[in-house]
Amino acid sequence: MNIDGKALAKATKENVAAKVRECVEKYGRAPHLAVILVGEDPASQTYVRSKGKDAEQVGFRSTTIRMPESTSEEELLAEISRLNADTEVDGVLVQLPVPRHIDENRVIEAISAEKDVDGFHPSNVAGLWQKRPHVAPCTPKGIMKMLDDNNVELEGKKAVVIGRSNIVGLPMAKMLLDRNATVTIAHSRTKNLPEVAAQADILVVAVGRPRFAGKDFVKPGAVVIDVGINRDPETGKLVGDVDYDEVAPIASLITPVPGGVGPMTRACLMENTLECFLAKF
Ligand code: NAD
Repeated sequence: MNIDGKALAKATKENVAAKVRECVEKYGRAPHLAVILVGEDPASQTYVRSKGKDAEQVGFRSTTIRMPESTSEEELLAEISRLNADTEVDGVLVQLPVPRHIDENRVIEAISAEKDVDGFHPSNVAGLWQKRPHVAPCTPKGIMKMLDDNNVELEGKKAVVIGRSNIVGLPMAKMLLDRNATVTIAHSRTKNLPEVAAQADILVVAVGRPRFAGKDFVKPGAVVIDVGINRDPETGKLVGDVDYDEVAPIASLITPVPGGVGPMTRACLMENTLECFLAKF
């Protein structure tokens, strides 16, 4: 059965929208999300447009700042400083990846932790790992909400996360661990990967390769979370990291691509922006 990320994202955003209406009454203004896009990468442009659309849908003030590919690191950092200092901006996000001549880590560190709606700033990352207050990264946060919404039991279950990136794999593993799952983090050097994956009650695949995980990766009855967003090299269609046609018949639950993790990631971005706004009062 599919986990309907789209429906849960809609409900999550409706909830945010209701709270935004209260914010306007109580604090005199709506939360304000500023998104910076450097360059013209087509996928990034699509993501930024969707984020702006979602922000407007929930009633936020939304600003998109488009900077040319030739923008220097100093210019980008100066723009971030300006937004950090602006008391009427509550969330600041730089769409990644940035052009190669700009140091991504410096950009992530430059965004004020209180406005870091992506949850990538080192102090938010430390907060997650040390169980202190933090802004949680949107993709794993959204996945946890989908698991909870579908009453997936985590305590004592075996979870395998394939991928160990800072923005998906690692925080995902930590969130599952905090809910008392027994977690294995698998990666490109893992030996016998299908065998390792097939032990999972909950399998999360965040690799970035079209249809990477087939039915040999999946224990019958497992819950499968497909984080991947890839273009099928032949059809150009959006596909996940999981071979949906092979895996859906044996999984108890699976997130489709599109319509699974993606919409929930954006809904959590809206939630994080609201939380950053509310933390000011
Ligand atoms: P990444 O490239 O930073 O990390 C990929 C990880 O996969 C690495 O840790 C690597 O060890 C692992 N890997 C690569 N090849 C492997 C192999 N052959 N076997 C096992 N492991 C392997 O990517 P990321 O940022 O974590 O993103 C992963 C995927 O998720 C991408 O498709 C990305 O587009 C997608 N994504 C989706 C959302 C969303 O909202 N749905 C959000 C973020 C990322």
